[in-house]
Amino acid sequence: MKYFSRSHNNDKNLRPPDLYEYFVDNFWFKAADLENQKINEPLRGSHKADVVIVGGGYTGLSAAYHIREKFPDKEVLLVEGACCGYGASGRNGGFCIATDLIRNLESVDPEIRQKNVEISYYGMNFIKRMIAEHEIDCDFEENGMLGVALNDKQVSELEEYEARLKKFGLESTLLRGDQLETEIISPRFKAGLVIPHGAILNPAKLAREMKRVVEECGVVVKERSVVTRITPGKVHHVETELGEVQAPVLVLAVNAYAHKLGFFKDRVFPVSVFQIATEPLSQSQWDSIGWQNRRGLYDMRTKFSYSIPSTDGRIVIGGSDFTYYANDAISSGNDMYVTKIIKRDLFSFFPQLEGLKIDHLWGGTTTYTLDRTPSVGVMGEDQNIYYGVGMSEGVPTTQTFGRIIADLMAGEENDYTNHYTVNRDIPYAGPTGLRKYFVKGGIWVMENLG
Ligand SMILES: Cc1cc2nc3c(=O)[nH]c(=O)nc-3n(C[C@H](O)[C@H](O)[C@H](O)COP(=O)(O)OP(=O)(O)OC[C@H]3O[C@@H](n4cnc5c(N)ncnc54)[C@H](O)[C@@H]3O)c2cc1C
Repeated sequence: MKYFSRSHNNDKNLRPPDLYEYFVDNFWFKAADLENQKINEPLRGSHKADVVIVGGGYTGLSAAYHIREKFPDKEVLLVEGACCGYGASGRNGGFCIATDLIRNLESVDPEIRQKNVEISYYGMNFIKRMIAEHEIDCDFEENGMLGVALNDKQVSELEEYEARLKKFGLESTLLRGDQLETEIISPRFKAGLVIPHGAILNPAKLAREMKRVVEECGVVVKERSVVTRITPGKVHHVETELGEVQAPVLVLAVNAYAHKLGFFKDRVFPVSVFQIATEPLSQSQWDSIGWQNRRGLYDMRTKFSYSIPSTDGRIVIGGSDFTYYANDAISSGNDMYVTKIIKRDLFSFFPQLEGLKIDHLWGGTTTYTLDRTPSVGVMGEDQNIYYGVGMSEGVPTTQTFGRIIADLMAGEENDYTNHYTVNRDIPYAGPTGLRKYFVKGGIWVMENLG
């Protein structure tokens, strides 16, 4: 399967990412003090490297870390268009679900299932390892998750999910009525499932700290360096606005922006997600909603909608709508319609908080595949283009993919390189003009039958 085309790559009118369109009113950036952080100099002039990584989100940063760990002598150059963490990695919901990679595996052999649980946990465990070994401060709290149902159908879905987790040897507890109120108080929540696996964090702090760590490991990081063209070959030629780099190995770590560079165009499509952060709640407001265990809260407004408490006492909530813009556009800018729905949902969950101010609104782009399964692997005539794409929920998965990329590069055969996400065939996403309908259909199937 070929996931890129040279002719598309050579279209000079396709200036890459509309990186600068979004709200930068991102609470996580503010809390990470991004404004006062050092953003590295752009790539200028001609360079050579052993490995060039395009994209400074979690995938690129984790790949950089694992590659340097495995190949300490290789020169690794990471090129990021804006600053590390500027994409979805610094904007997301802060949910770190350890069990993200165990979907679709009920029917497989219990031994393989168990291995997949371990692989699924790798991403979160790697974040914990980074925190411990490199003193990363990213407000990581491993309090588990609370899934809530808004209607009877969703209660049955939670029951099914509880049974599924049991099959994987993972505990969880279904709560209703008064029991549920020990976790959260809302007139709309009919039942809740406590899942002790998972964490919440400030995603931008994690990305910025990972940048520090990879630099300490010897990776050269260039920021403000938008890649305008990639010409793949035995030696890849990567051009930015002010410079260029040649390298025999390329890691493509641009997730939602891959199509802008001519990769995965008909397989992976960008989906925009929006979020809001409230002003800090008073203690009596927190008491009124009973959310004292500080678990990541997900509900089923859409297939994945979520809220978390920030360390300074706000609610960060997002995901009421996953928006696909025609022709794979990255964003139409400020989507007031979606943020309005998020606000409506917040106050319908917690009418106790009516009047609470919204301090921040922002969005970001992630990707979907039609089977909602991410993909990692290696491609190209010379098998020297490594990639991770399709991580719709990727805080831990991207970390795991960074490791898989390094393992593949080393030619290893192990449970990770044999994982079901590796070098898999990604389903066709439909012709660009009709993709909107394919995507709508796909989301409908996910939400109603998936
Ligand atoms: C609003 C939102 C909420 C989300 N919530 C969650 C959540 O709670 N939990 C969860 O697990 N997942 C969540 N996700 C998904 C998760 O954030 C992503 O799966 C993950 O961050 C993808 O990481 P990445 O490194 O692959 O891509 P990105 O973080 O998008 O990184 C790609 C990088 O490439 C750079 N780039 C792009 N094009 C170029 C170019 N031409 N030249 C140079 N650089 C370029 C970009 O600037 C960007 O920094 C959410 C996503 C969004 C948008």
